[in-house]
Amino acid sequence: MRAIAVHRGEESPRVIDVPTPEPDPGEVLVETLRVGVDGTDHEVIKGTHGGFPPGDDYQILGHEAIGVVVDPTTTGFDVGDLVMPTVRRPPDGTNEYFERGEPDMAPDGKYVERGIVDAHGYMSEYFTSPTEFLVEIPESLAPHGFLVEPMSNAEKALEHAFATRSAFTWEPESALVLGNGPLGLLTLARLARDVDDLYCLGRRDRPDPSIDIIEKLGATYVDSRETPVPEIPAEHGHVDIAVEATGYAKHAFEVLDALAPNGVGALLGVPGDWSFEIEGGRLHREMVLQNKALVGSVNSHIPHFEDAIETVSSLPDWFVDDIVTEVVPAEDPSAAFERNTDQIKTAVEFVSPSER
Ligand code: NAP
Ligand code: BGC
Ligand code: ZN
Repeated sequence: MRAIAVHRGEESPRVIDVPTPEPDPGEVLVETLRVGVDGTDHEVIKGTHGGFPPGDDYQILGHEAIGVVVDPTTTGFDVGDLVMPTVRRPPDGTNEYFERGEPDMAPDGKYVERGIVDAHGYMSEYFTSPTEFLVEIPESLAPHGFLVEPMSNAEKALEHAFATRSAFTWEPESALVLGNGPLGLLTLARLARDVDDLYCLGRRDRPDPSIDIIEKLGATYVDSRETPVPEIPAEHGHVDIAVEATGYAKHAFEVLDALAPNGVGALLGVPGDWSFEIEGGRLHREMVLQNKALVGSVNSHIPHFEDAIETVSSLPDWFVDDIVTEVVPAEDPSAAFERNTDQIKTAVEFVSPSER
């Protein structure tokens, strides 16, 4: 079958031929429709995050897949069911995090991530999965259901951010998203459901399709080149909640200055190593005396996917049309991996959702 993989020492992914996987009893065989591409895929391609499956000199990409069950084996699934797989799997059998249904909280070594950490991904004509790692996707989401996995990452981050504020009365009225890539824009759309006073940080000149989306969502675009994060309060006021989705490591600390007293910042970006100075004493004092919180969040599991299905189902049509800038055929997928200011979210198509 056709698969899209990155090879050791190569800079761009390419199409390869690999054997079609055989599902074990209790697993299903899924025919892939579309697979989304995000910043993490670019980090995997560059070799700055994740790792190849042990013993292989290539890695099949893709962790945002939507597909159709073609062989349910002994499971309760039916042929034709639309499904999305979760990303993490136990490396050997199982462990306590998977048994508790919390693989997203597993430390390094207790998980692999398909298409990212030590395991092949879903960017192939078929993939197999145990049923416990599959969520059913409504038919209406067949064309853009690949947005559910990244939205589930936003759902988890917001759940954890709200949990840090659950010991007192806290009703956030303003929110800031750092980053206008796909994760930032999906998070902004999710926050727009509940918060009116919204800001999104980027570093792009107008005209730019991501700035158009920010403004259509009713949010204010903040250019970090003109208004660095610590200066946001002077320009726009403090915010109650901030979500970092730039991967720009200084933002993890600068965001403390943008937060109002009792505010919380959720960090999602995955930067490389970088040393820089911060005003540690002042920021530490600020966190303590203003009851501020910072929380890191990675991955997501079934309940977050279920919340994300609801959120993605409620996204306005224009948002989906605008954020999914290109769907590229799997035979020649290179355009899905090009980074330019016209692209926001791309996907690779194996089977057209309208032709299945
Ligand atoms: P992305 O496409 O790389 O988006 C990052 C965005 O941040 C880009 O639009 C970039 O702008 C902007 N940005 C970077 N530095 C900036 C700065 N100094 N000022 C203003 N804007 C800046 O990636 P993504 O898919 O949206 O994901 C965002 C980050 O989250 C990545 O680091 C990714 O690895 C991580 N991630 C984490 C999780 C998780 O579970 N924790 C899940 C998914 C992704 P330009 O395009 O103009 O450079
Ligand atoms: C994926 C997550 C994964 C994270 C870190 C994200 O892009 O969507 O499932 O846990 O990267 O590897
Ligand atoms: Zn991702």
